[in-house]
Amino acid sequence: MSSLPNTYDAEPIPDAARAEVERLLQSGDLFRYTAPGDAPVALLEREFADLLGVDYALAVASCSAALFLSMKALDLPRGTKVLIPAFTFAAVPSSVLHAECEPVLVEVGENYRIDMADFAAKLTPDIGAVLISHMRGHTSDMDAIMALCESAGVPVIEDAAHSLGTTWGGRTIGTIGRIGCFSFQSYKLLNAGEGGILVTDDADLMARAVIMSGAYEHNWKKHPVLHEAFARWQNRLPLYNTRLNNLSAAVIRPQLPELARRIRDGRRNHDHVAARLNTSPWLHVPEKLAPEERAPDSIQFNLVGVSDDDTLAFQETAKARGVPVQVFGMSTDNARAFWNWQFLGALPELPRTRAMLMRACDARLPARLTLADCDAIAGALIAAADEVMGASQNAKAVA
Ligand SMILES: *Cc1c(COP(=O)(O)O)cnc(C)c1O
Repeated sequence: MSSLPNTYDAEPIPDAARAEVERLLQSGDLFRYTAPGDAPVALLEREFADLLGVDYALAVASCSAALFLSMKALDLPRGTKVLIPAFTFAAVPSSVLHAECEPVLVEVGENYRIDMADFAAKLTPDIGAVLISHMRGHTSDMDAIMALCESAGVPVIEDAAHSLGTTWGGRTIGTIGRIGCFSFQSYKLLNAGEGGILVTDDADLMARAVIMSGAYEHNWKKHPVLHEAFARWQNRLPLYNTRLNNLSAAVIRPQLPELARRIRDGRRNHDHVAARLNTSPWLHVPEKLAPEERAPDSIQFNLVGVSDDDTLAFQETAKARGVPVQVFGMSTDNARAFWNWQFLGALPELPRTRAMLMRACDARLPARLTLADCDAIAGALIAAADEVMGASQNAKAVA
C-alpha cells in the first residue's frame, strides 16, 4: 500500500515568503505595531478584507481568539447564553466559556448540518448570541438561521475557521453574520502554523475588537477604521493581547494567490472520492445543501447499517490499508465529540448528534493530491468496507 499519499503532509510555503521572512529576520521587526505603516500584518488584513469584500479585518493569534474577541466586541453580559452546534471542535465551546458566556448545544443531523427544528426550539428569548460553526466546512441553512436570528434580534457570529472559499447563494461564508472568524492553523486552507482573522463591516465592533486584541495606547491609528469609533473606546476596554506577529503574516500573504487553486482542486478531489464512495452499499457521503459551493480539504462520510464492532473494525482496516480514518465518536477522547467536553459541566443528551458521531468518518483530502491519489484512497476505503462489512454480512447469513 506504499502508493498511498500521506494526507497529513502540508503543501510547501510559496518561495515568495522566503525573501520577506529573511528581511524580517534581518531587521528584527516582528511586532506589528513597530513600523509606522504597512507592517506585514496590516497588509494581510487589507488583502484579506479585499479578498472577502468586507470593510474590516483584524488578524489575531488564532480563530479561537477571534471567536473570543467577537463575543467581547458584542459586549455580551456575563452569563449570556450562546447557541452553538453540538458538532464542532472543543475550542469553540471553550471560547464561549473564555468570554464568560454559557454555550447551549444544538442538535446536528446525519448530514453534519444544524437541525433547524432544534435550532428554532432553542432560540428562546434568553439567547444573547448565535455562533455558527461551519464544522469541516459544512454549511447549515444560513437563510433560515439568519431569518430566525434577525427576527429575534440576535447577532450571529460565523466560525468559518475551516470554510475559507465556501459560498452560500453566491455570498462568501464568514461574511453573512455580523462577524466572521477564520483560522490559519496548519490544517486549514491558509497555513501559518497558527493564526486567525476576524472580519466585519461594523466599524464600532471592529474598533472594540482591535483595542481588545492589544492595540494599546494609540496603536489603533494603524488600523483603517473610522477614528471616532476608536475615540469612543479609548482606555475603556481591557487589552487581551492576542495579536498576530509579522512572521506569520509573511508566511500567509504569498498563499493568498494560491487560494483559488486550492479551492478548485480540493472540491474536485472531494467530489471525485464522494462519487466513488457512494457506489458502496456501506458508505454514504451526505449531499450538501443546494445554495452551498464547498471548499473542502477533507471528506466526511457515514457508515450505513453497521454495528459498533464493524465501525471500529472499518477504522482499523482502513488504517491498515493506508488511509487514516477517524470515526468522530469512536476514537478515545476525540475533541469533536460533545460528551468529551466535560469542562462544560452537566452535558445535555443530544441523540441525533451522538448517532451521527458514532458513524461519521473523517479523512483528510488535501488539494495537492492528484486524481490518481484520490482513486487509491477511495479504492482503499471501499475495499476496507467490503472486507469488514462483507464478512460480517456473510456471518449473519450463515447464522
Ligand atoms: C480549526 C478550527 C477551530 C480552531 O481554530 P484555531 O485557529 O486553531 O483556534 C475552530 N472551529 C473550527 C470549525 C475549526 O475547524
